[in-house]
Amino acid sequence: MRQKIVAGNWKMNGTIAETENLLRELLAGKLNNQNVKVVVCPPYTSLHVASKILNGSHIALGAQNMSEHARGAYTGEISPEMLLTAGVLYVILGHSERRQYHAETDQLVNAKVKLALQTGLIPIICVGELLSEREEGRTETVVGKQVAGTLSGLTAEALNKVVIAYEPVWAIGTGKTATPQMAQEVHAFIRDRLMAIDKTTAGKVPILYGGSVKPDNALGLHRQPDIDGSLVGGASLKADDFMAIINAV
Ligand code: PEP
Repeated sequence: MRQKIVAGNWKMNGTIAETENLLRELLAGKLNNQNVKVVVCPPYTSLHVASKILNGSHIALGAQNMSEHARGAYTGEISPEMLLTAGVLYVILGHSERRQYHAETDQLVNAKVKLALQTGLIPIICVGELLSEREEGRTETVVGKQVAGTLSGLTAEALNKVVIAYEPVWAIGTGKTATPQMAQEVHAFIRDRLMAIDKTTAGKVPILYGGSVKPDNALGLHRQPDIDGSLVGGASLKADDFMAIINAV
């Protein structure tokens, strides 16, 4: 059985005090399914305090990005080793906001994925089409290219350690969600693309859905055979909503 995962992407939200409060609320929440892996991805400045609060708990820590370089003169960047030693296990790579506002390409994301894996971090690799691309009937072409590009050169062993997040860009932060059927179609397509890398491993890679996941639509999405959980933005900032989404896996 594939690992079920619900990850919260806090984006640029949360002072240290707000992080502490939200994490304490989440730790007090009732988890109905012990088989779901819960991940929170606060901003860099909150990672250290978050790792102390979460130490020994069922909630794992993730970061929202990292450098493609291991160390050196890269002002303002954060290396994978810095994340690992701050208690981070997961790292979101290639989020559409990084692609859109920081011109991140599949090639760059691929370099980050390889470095994350070498360092011992689990990459959550984001792919997804723009609204215009969906309307032009190019969803599979776009997503297929992103999957091939970001995973380029990965062995079956490496593929076994990644998580993919399908996040249609038009659904992120807009309140518009892909229907469970629309999402399932793309998830099945992504799994088929993973087969091209390694047939056995493809069936083991968790593929999360992201894009305005809320307590009232989570169950329908999570019930789809190729949807293994979700990557949640806005709703992960409210403990009750995030818990409801986790408990809908
Ligand atoms: C995201 O940022 O990855 C995301 C899916 O955001 P939201 O849930 O707010 O659409």
